[in-house]
This record gives sequence, C-alpha cells and structure tokens, in this order.
Amino acid sequence: MSTGTEQSKAWFDRAKAAIPGGVNSPVRAFNSVGGTPRFMVRGEGPHLWDADGNRYVDLVSSWGPMILGHAHPAVVEAAREAATSGLSFGTPTIGEVELAEEIIGRVEPVERVRLVNSGTEATMSAIRLARGFTGRAKIVKFAGCYHGHVDALLAQAGSGVATLGLPTSPGVTGAQAADTIVLPYNDLDAVRQSFVDNPDAIAAVITEAAAGNMGAVAPDEGFNAGLLEIAHEHGALLVMDEVMTGFRVSRAGWFGLEGVAGDLYTFGKVMSGGLPAAAFGGRADIMAKLAPGGPVYQAGTLSGNPVAVATGLATLRAADQAVYAALDANAKRLGNLFRLALSEAGVANSVQYAGNLVSVFFGEPAVRDYAGAQASETWRFPPFFHALLDGGVYAPPSAYEAWFVNAAMDEEAFSVIEAALPAAAQAAAGAVR
Ligand code: PLP
Repeated sequence: MSTGTEQSKAWFDRAKAAIPGGVNSPVRAFNSVGGTPRFMVRGEGPHLWDADGNRYVDLVSSWGPMILGHAHPAVVEAAREAATSGLSFGTPTIGEVELAEEIIGRVEPVERVRLVNSGTEATMSAIRLARGFTGRAKIVKFAGCYHGHVDALLAQAGSGVATLGLPTSPGVTGAQAADTIVLPYNDLDAVRQSFVDNPDAIAAVITEAAAGNMGAVAPDEGFNAGLLEIAHEHGALLVMDEVMTGFRVSRAGWFGLEGVAGDLYTFGKVMSGGLPAAAFGGRADIMAKLAPGGPVYQAGTLSGNPVAVATGLATLRAADQAVYAALDANAKRLGNLFRLALSEAGVANSVQYAGNLVSVFFGEPAVRDYAGAQASETWRFPPFFHALLDGGVYAPPSAYEAWFVNAAMDEEAFSVIEAALPAAAQAAAGAVR
C-alpha cells in the first residue's frame, strides 16, 4: 500500500540543489520514465523501503551486486568485522590476496587479478594494458555494449547513455574516440571486415560477455568464439567484460556457461558484495606488463580496500550452488510472469535472457543488437514501470536495462509481483507513442 512520495519528492528537490540532476548516476533520476525517484533508506532480503515508508520488491539489486538480497547477515558481519580492524591501510592486505585467489579459482582463464574501485576503472585499465601489450592503438567495441564511462568507450554505449538519448557524450574529444571502432553486436562479418580495414592496428576487441546494457541480449551461438578466433588470427586480444555477468550468471560468470576464454576479463558488482571494488585480470603474460613488474602504469589509493574486499569475499563464499539455482529459477519465473501478463493484455513482447539476466522488449521480434533494441516499442515502458512501482515492485527505470533478480526472493515477493503485473500489462497495452 503506497504511503505517498512526499519525502522522496522533498529529498529530490533538495538533492537537485546540491547534486547535478539530483543523482550520482544518471539513470537513477527517472528521466526516461518520469516521476519522482524513490530515496531508499533500507534494504533487507528481497525488499527496499523508501523514505516515505513504502516497501518494494527490488528487481534492480543495486544493478547487479546484491545476488544474496539486501543486508545478508554473513556479508554485513564481514563488513562490520573488517571495519572494526581499520578502514584502509594503503598497504598489501591478506583479504585482497584471498579475493584474487577466489576469482582465479572460479574463472579458469584468469591467472592474475588486479583490484580496482569500479567497473569503469577495470575496463579503462584493461584497455590500457591491451594497448601496452600489443603496441597497437585501436579498440573494437559493439553498439549497445556499455563498459563504464571511459572516454574511449562511451560511443554508442547503451543503457544510461541511450536512456538520455545521447549518441555519445560531449567532453569526449575526437582524439579520445578516434581509436574506437563501433560495430553491430552479433555481427562477425563486421568484425572480420574491420580487421581487414585496419591491419596491425587493433589492440583488442572488448565485448560484454553477454550483453546486458541494451536489455538482456545473449551472444548468438559462436559469436564469442568467433571474436576470439578473429582477434587472435590478427594478433589482437579479446577483453571479456563480465562486470555485469561475472559471478551472477554462474559461479564462473558467463565463462562458466559458455567456456570461451578471453585474454583479459573485467569484473565488478557481485565480487564486491555492494561496496566499491572491481577487478581486471587474465593471462599471466599480459598481466605481467602491469606496474610495478612491467611498464603499463595503473594504481589506486583505495584499491583492495579491506572492507570492500571482506564484503566481496563473504558474498562469493555464500554464493553456493543453491544460490545460483535460485537466481536461475527466479529469473525464469519472472520472465514467465511477464510473458503471461503481457500476452493476456494483448501486448506483443519478447522476454529475453542472458543467463539469469532477464528483460522485456515490447514488440514481436527477438532483439539481437542495439538497432533491434531501439526499434522495440520502448514508449510502452514508462506506464508499465509506474504501474509496477505503484504495486510495490521496483524495476529498472529504463527500457534498456536488464532486470536483476536475487536469491532472497520468496513466495511473498513473487505474490507481490504477480499482483502488480496485470495492471502494469494493461498500462503497457494502453500506452500511446
Ligand atoms: N561494464 C559493464 C558491462 C557494466 O554493466 C558496467 C556498469 O553497469 C560497467 C562496466 C561499469 O561499471 P561501474 O558502474 O562500476 O563503473
């Protein structure tokens, strides 16, 4: 039962006077869906509570990290214990070695890991390393894939950027973008052609291991394997961005589902359990080029922060097979509920999965790339979103985002979703372009 939004409204007004747009990451501002962003004050299990006391079933899960649900006791205890022993030392610590070993133990192609503070930093560093290792400048990326707000990677970057209707960002200079080649996702011919057109110039292909930033769009069978083959044939590296999929879609991320070994990997989100930490890693011979052993510089005052490392380790250690089974089952159940409600309301839809990432595209055709995502009936999304919100379901506030389930979702959470969906589907049916 909604108790109103007065507090969130008041805080949003106050926020806008202090923070650009009132938010610290654009999609939170609800620009593409309208209305008042909810200021959350508490999370527990599958639920969030806002400043007005409304409770929501959370299908954003902090954009991925919270696979166990909110305030999981083992993770909170790990944070408390680590914090009690000191917040940051700026020295090597035992926990960061254990976290690196945990990642290496899960993702076979990763032989060495460097911890950083955000997914953006991870992809930025991986690209620098790929360039330093190969001595080449150009990077291939795919339209609709987001790799953080790295200058060179912001071109046609999906989700947040797409939501704001920006083709790319002012402030990124021609020089910064000049070495970025943007190709359609799932199009190996385009990749082959770009290597022919740019001989000995491409350092790396970077791809989301499975795309989640144009909605959930899994790679076609053979796409990632084809990328690896083409890149290696031409002396380039494959960088698998698993910031979103890593340790979520399986214990070894997308690699665990598909088995295609990238040369470098980027991780974030789940591996830090909700605190700011991320990582990049990969083949030992490539990682050896990093300072201090090698010449490619990379550093960070708070990298390997003991509290973030402790929450990450606690999250990964608690994420057993039962957790991954629950994530998969919850995603399937959610997708089936979408399909049922929308079909009953006569709304053509394509419910898509990338592992246990799930999203709804309005309209008939399955979406394989960014052009397809943009051609879907995204104008049906805002009323769908708001009807869910009114029904106590917190969905991603953008048509271009994947939905993130967590393992804490129980029968009661699903009953809230089931109760909210018919009105949401009707709202989508009644949407006008
Ligand atoms: N790479 C992918 C695939 C992402 O989904 C994201 C963020 O959503 C990033 C990189 C950037 O991570 P961060 O927001 O931690 O900088």
